[in-house]
Amino acid sequence: NADVAMYRVKEHGRNNYRFYAPEMNHMALDRLDMEGNLRRALERDEITVFYQPILSLESGRIIGAEALARWNHPRIGMIHPPEFIPLAEETGLIIPLGERVLRLVCAQLAAWRKAGLPPLRAAINISARQFRQDDLPRLVGRVLDEAGLAGDALELELTESMVMHDVDNAIAMLRELKQLGVDLALDDFGTGYSSLSYLKRFPIDALKIDRSFVRDIDSEADDAAIAHAVIAMAHSLGLRVIAEGVENEAQLELLRRYGCDDFQGFLFSRAVPAEEFALLLKSGRTMPPAECEA
Ligand code: C2E
Ligand code: MG
Ligand code: MG
Ligand code: MG
Repeated sequence: NADVAMYRVKEHGRNNYRFYAPEMNHMALDRLDMEGNLRRALERDEITVFYQPILSLESGRIIGAEALARWNHPRIGMIHPPEFIPLAEETGLIIPLGERVLRLVCAQLAAWRKAGLPPLRAAINISARQFRQDDLPRLVGRVLDEAGLAGDALELELTESMVMHDVDNAIAMLRELKQLGVDLALDDFGTGYSSLSYLKRFPIDALKIDRSFVRDIDSEADDAAIAHAVIAMAHSLGLRVIAEGVENEAQLELLRRYGCDDFQGFLFSRAVPAEEFALLLKSGRTMPPAECEA
C-alpha cells in the first residue's frame, strides 16, 4: 500500500503536508498506488479547492481569487498540487479533476453571490492536457450556465509552453474561450521561452509574473529589471499584470513603483478554504493594513 511509504511532514502551515519517503525513488515505486489513490480520491470527493486572494495594488482591496486544488486525503491530510497534478496530467486523470475544480469553483462563486458577497472573479489553472481537449470551451460554457454565471466570473490561467506548442491551434482555442467572455492569463510568465512581442498574436488579457522573479526583486537588480520591463511591455500590449508570490513589503513597494496592477502572495494571505476566504472578504481587510478602516 502506497500509504505505508508516505509520511506526514509538517510544512509551514497547520494543514500543509507533503508526501515523503526515505527512498530516493519513492515516486516510481508509489506511482501505481498513487494513480489508484488519486482515482479513488476523485470518486470519494477528496479533491477540494482553496482560494488565494488577488488584490489590486492601487486600491489594496481583494478583487478576486486564484482557485488552487487540494487533495484532502483522509489519512495523510492536505496534499498540495505539485504532489499530484503531474501524475494527474500523465495519466489523464487531470481531465475529470480539472472538470471537478471548474464545477466546485463555479458553484462556490454562485453561492457567494447568493449570499450577497460582492461579485469577484476566480482564476482557474488549466492544464496542458485540458487545453488540448476540443470540447474545453463547451465544457466551460456549460458549467458557467449551470451555475448562472457570466463568463467574466472566470479567468483561465494557461502557461507559455501550452500556447507556444502549436500556435495556430492554440490561437483558435483561445478565441473560442474568449467568446465565452472569460479572461485569459498567461501563468508563470518568464519561465518559458516566448518573447513578449510574440504575445501580440494571442488574444490574452493578462500576464502573471512568476514567483521566481518576484522573490529577489528587492535584492537582485536583474530580477527587478526583468519585472519592471515585463510590466511596462505588457502594458504597452494592453495586458494586465499580476505578480505572484509577494511575501514582503519591499517586494510590494517595488511592484507598485513599477506599475504592476494586481498581486497575490503570502504577505496578504495563503490559499485558504472557501469559508475562510468569505470571512476575509467580509472583514474588508486591505493591503497595506494601514489603509484598514476598522
Ligand atoms: P500556480 O498556478 O503558479 O499557483 C501559485 C502557487 O504559488 C500556489 O501553489 C500558491 O499557493 C503559491 N504561492 C502563492 N503565493 C505564494 C507566496 O507568497 N510564496 C510562496 N512560496 N508560494 C506562493 P500551489 O497551490 O501549491 O499550486 C502549485 C501549482 O499547481 C500551481 O501553480 C498550478 O500550476 C498547479 N495547480 C494548482 N491547482 C491546480 C488545478 O486545479 N489545476 C491544474 N491544472 N493545476 C493546478
Ligand atoms: Mg496559476
Ligand atoms: Mg503561477
Ligand atoms: Mg508559479
